[in-house]
Parts: sequence; C-alpha cells; structure tokens
Amino acid sequence: MNEQAYKEYGISEDVIELANKSEKEIEPIFKNIDDICEYNTIKVLKAFQDNNISDMHFGSTTGYGYGDVGRLATEKVFAQVLNAEDSLVRGQFISGTHALTVTLFALLRPGDTLLSITGKPYDTLDEVIGIVDNPSSLKSFNVNYEQIDLVNDDFDYEKIQKRLEKGKVKVIELQRSKGYSIRKSIGIEQVQKVIDSIRQVDKDVIIMIDNCYCEFVGKKEPLEVGADIIVGSLIKNLGGGISPNGAYVAGRKDLINLVAERLTAPGEGKEVGPTLGITKSILQGLFMAPSVVASSLKTAVFASRCLEKLGLEVSPKFDEERADIVQTINFNDEKKLVKYCQGIQMGSPVDSSSIPEPWDMPGYTDKVIMAAGAFTQGSSIELSCDGPIRPPYTAFMQGGLTYHYGKIGVMKAIQNML
Ligand SMILES: *Cc1c(COP(=O)(O)O)cnc(C)c1O
Repeated sequence: MNEQAYKEYGISEDVIELANKSEKEIEPIFKNIDDICEYNTIKVLKAFQDNNISDMHFGSTTGYGYGDVGRLATEKVFAQVLNAEDSLVRGQFISGTHALTVTLFALLRPGDTLLSITGKPYDTLDEVIGIVDNPSSLKSFNVNYEQIDLVNDDFDYEKIQKRLEKGKVKVIELQRSKGYSIRKSIGIEQVQKVIDSIRQVDKDVIIMIDNCYCEFVGKKEPLEVGADIIVGSLIKNLGGGISPNGAYVAGRKDLINLVAERLTAPGEGKEVGPTLGITKSILQGLFMAPSVVASSLKTAVFASRCLEKLGLEVSPKFDEERADIVQTINFNDEKKLVKYCQGIQMGSPVDSSSIPEPWDMPGYTDKVIMAAGAFTQGSSIELSCDGPIRPPYTAFMQGGLTYHYGKIGVMKAIQNML
C-alpha cells in the first residue's frame, strides 16, 4: 500500500513483498500481544490512581533529596505494579548492571555463597562476581560463587535441590533473559516451577531475579510467583523509552532496605536521593511501557518471520511464546551480522549516518557491534541490535518505540544485508 513511499526510501520490491507476506501471517500473534498490553495498561493505571499521582509528584529535589514526594510516590507505584512490598526506583542507579551489583553486594556477606541457576550470568556481571578477576569483585570480598547450568533450556531441578540440601546458599540468582548466550529465555511458568521446587527444600534462600527485558511481556511478574527481589533497567522495558536513565529494584521490604543502604549509606537508605527533575519522565515512561513493550514484541515477531523466510535461524520463532523482547538471529557469517546491524543504525531516527563497527566494549569479553540510533544513549527499549563477534555470529535485536518504526527499521536492515 505504501509501496511508492518505501521505494523512495530505498526498499526494494522483494523486501516489500516479504514484509507484506510476513505481516499477514503474524496477525493472530499481534492480537495476543494487544491483549497483554491492555491488561498491563489497566495494572499501571490502577497503580497511578490508587496512589493519587498528581502534578505535585512531578516536582524535583536537589542535594540530599530528603522528603521527595515524587520519589516516594513513584516507588509506591512501581511496587504496586510489580506486586512488591517496596521498591527503589532511582536515577542514581547508572545501569541495570549497577542495580544488580548493588543488590548482590547488599545481600551477600563474606563467606556467603551466591548460586546462579541459569548458568553463567550476563557478561557484565563477570567482573562483579569475580568470574573474571577484578580486585573489587564479590570474590575479592570472599563471597563464593557457584553455578548450575540449564539443561535443554530448562532448570536442572534435581541438581538445584541437591545443592540446597547441602545448605549454605545465601542468594540464588536467576536470569530470565538470555543475555548474550544462545538459549531460550525463561517464561514465568518456568520461574514459578523452579521457585516451588526450591521452596520444597529451602525456605530461607533469597531468590533474586534479573528481570531485564521481561517486564510486561506477559501478564505476571516474578514477585507474583514467589521471587524475593527483582532487578531491571529503566532504559529497557519499564522506562517506556521516556526515562532518561536509572534502574529499579523491587521486592521484600527488608531486602529493599538492605539495597537502599548499600546504594546510599547505612542509616540513610531510602530517605535520600535527589530526583533532579526526572520523576515525571520515569512515571510517564511507566505509563507508556505496556504499549512500548507491545511495539517491541511486534517488531521482534515481524523480524523473526521475515528472517526465517530468508532461511536464517531465528529464536524465538514468530509463533513461539515469548518471555522477553529479545530476538536472536544467527547469521553464521560475520559480514551479514555487521551489515544487518549497520542497516538498523541507518534506519534510526537519531545518528542514522554514524555507522557502527565492532569494538572492545568495557565489561564484555568479545568485540561487540552495537547499533542503536536512540534518543537515550544505550537505550535498548528503542530499536537496537547488537552482537558479539564470535560464531555463530548472532544478532540480539530488541526494542521499537512504535511498531511502524520497528517494522521499517527491520526492512531497512534486511535491505542492507541483502
Ligand atoms: C541489559 C541487561 C543487563 C544489564 O543492564 P545494563 O543496563 O545494560 O547494565 C543485565 N542482565 C540482562 C539479562 C540484561 O539484558
């Protein structure tokens, strides 16, 4: 229908046809995404209304940030949406990695053991945990680390129970999204199943979930199925593309208190933290988040179908249930991976003429190519695509503030790759 406009935009007839065909096939999937979006929108609206969000909460504090009513209300709204006793929603968290780090350091003491039950955690945690040496790691403070790998993309339930029966695990870390590994992301039913299995043998171990990329993908969040504490970034799902930075931690009140005292200072905890004018953006971002997550999901489903039709290996497939907004594409070819990522950049609203090249990013082991023409630097709820330069040359694509833009971006990338 917009064929002429697409052609003038540099998209060829075959790519337009591929897009049209794919879009027809994914219609029923979109219906389901819209249903989830509607559900989460009700959840968010109710939290705003129950907490009487008003203009006064969009104000700002500087300095220590004592008595910031906007911050207080924001943390109540996030807590309600995530079914948490309490939450910390702060611009003082520099990233998701920082929030995960603060949480781990808050919960663990020398001699304690951290157990990851989803294999090796996200690359940026290597130096935090001490998997890669760092004089400031948890390991340097004598915190032990153990991991149990997934088996066929599911938990090793028996091994986890056996390990817990031996005792002395303080924190279990579970990462839902696949990160930069080749595995499936973990759905909420699986989270529930493993938590039930953990609780059969251990009532006390703290279950912490790296929830990055998973919020609002379904109707339930991990605290609703028994997790103790969850962590995520505000330049991903819950920021709705509006939050300028920050991250959240939500869960049990006593644990949130420990995290707050680690983030600020023992004795100060949650009471300090100036909002510096970002509260309105954080709240507006949360308000937008269900819809932005839906757009990202639709973009991922569209890409999955198109690229599968081109003979590439994709995960998830277009009609598979999704646990996060990430779409992986195996190019099995360094050049194609780079071209696809560069195409995503060329189709971006911002920095469309700065073409990315693979580089040594701090915190990552391999060279990485990152495409993100985003309004917010590093934001990956905006259409972005990155891949570590190692076989099988997999692109990890996510985000899309609007579906129409996401679709056009994917078409541009396919065009550039072909
Ligand atoms: C993005 C991400 C992180 C880290 O978040 P940053 O904000 O990039 O530091 C951690 N874990 C997972 C699974 C992620 O997707």
